[in-house]
Amino acid sequence: MIKADVHMHTDFSHDSDSTPEEMAEGAIEKGLEIICFTDHFDKDNMDWGAEDIFDPEKYFEKMVQIREQYRDRLRIRIGVELGLQPHLGSYYEEFVKKYPFDFVIGSVHSAERTDIAQKKVFAGRTDGEAYRIIFQEMLEDVKAFSGFDVFGHVDYVARYGREKEKEYSYQKYADEIDAILRLLIDKGCGIELNMSGIKYGLPFAHPHTDVLKRYRELGGELITVGADGHRPEHIAYDFHKVKDILEGCGFTYYAEFEERKPHFYKI
Ligand SMILES: [Zn+2]
Ligand SMILES: [Zn+2]
Repeated sequence: MIKADVHMHTDFSHDSDSTPEEMAEGAIEKGLEIICFTDHFDKDNMDWGAEDIFDPEKYFEKMVQIREQYRDRLRIRIGVELGLQPHLGSYYEEFVKKYPFDFVIGSVHSAERTDIAQKKVFAGRTDGEAYRIIFQEMLEDVKAFSGFDVFGHVDYVARYGREKEKEYSYQKYADEIDAILRLLIDKGCGIELNMSGIKYGLPFAHPHTDVLKRYRELGGELITVGADGHRPEHIAYDFHKVKDILEGCGFTYYAEFEERKPHFYKI
């Protein structure tokens, strides 16, 4: 049983209405021992009305209080999901130095300065063309900033094409994805298994098992597990499938982070 769900959102994120207390209660109900809050911090992403960031001082004040409140029932880590863009490298270098996060996920939610979920990057292109442009920019994102612990949901873009995963496969983007994975491994960054893909109607979690296998093959072994829940009922979503997925791809341990250091657990 996977006991740590280390990717979830609260009402500090624009796309969640759930309080940290509700998420903590939900995690206890699911039998988890460890969670990490990873609210969105997407600097310069204005596509949701206001800039998609939270006030770090308020965030820590609230999250530290919740961590203490639940200390006897749940180990709570305080993390963040950064929205990477090529021009934000030095901004995020400073940002992660400034605040005592336990865990930092680096995710790509934007390409060509627009949010991928808003689908502007798909206009006038086939899904396959848009996916390639996004993977190419993703490599630039990681080149610009790699001061995170794991790279988020590598192939989540497959959710947003008109025909979803039809024009996506690891093989089709092997050059781009290999370059990203090699760079991550070189920089000592892990990746996450993000179970939300299935919830979004895809036949796989992120990344696809072909990508997980390739990451292992290239020497990567640092992996965290998260459901990317935005509501209590989505915490630990499909976690009963995690063991088979990870073992099937050659992993024997998964990790979670405290004070930016990994703790490893047998799968
Ligand atoms: Zn994300
Ligand atoms: Zn997320």
